[in-house]
Amino acid sequence: MPTKRSFKCKHCGECCKLIVKVSKDDIKRIEKAGHKKESFLVEDPMEPDSVIKDSMKRVNNRCIFSYNKGDKYLCGIYKLRPDNCRIYPFFNKQVKTCKPDTLLKWW
Ligand code: SF4
Ligand code: SF4
Repeated sequence: MPTKRSFKCKHCGECCKLIVKVSKDDIKRIEKAGHKKESFLVEDPMEPDSVIKDSMKRVNNRCIFSYNKGDKYLCGIYKLRPDNCRIYPFFNKQVKTCKPDTLLKWW
């Protein structure tokens, strides 16, 4: 079972297809680097009434900052990415997999 330390992302890009909630601090950090709010944020389509309303905009079912290089998917704002992307998939102490379809079922 992978731990935070042993985990190695294979850059398949599957988790960048999820709806990623974005905090106010995340927004500030990304804006500071010159990205306009309107270009990367949308109201969470699944939970419009939630306290955290903002989520990353998606294009073709994938985060707007996700791009591919060869057969790998990378993050265009890696150093600025939202906290949820930083902790993924370790929302809980242990995970069996990072693949969203299996991970979310397992929870
Ligand atoms: S699903 Fe797992 S392997 Fe694929 S990009 Fe996300 S963390 Fe990396
Ligand atoms: S910000 Fe980066 S890591 Fe987070 S969903 Fe978008 S492309 Fe993926």
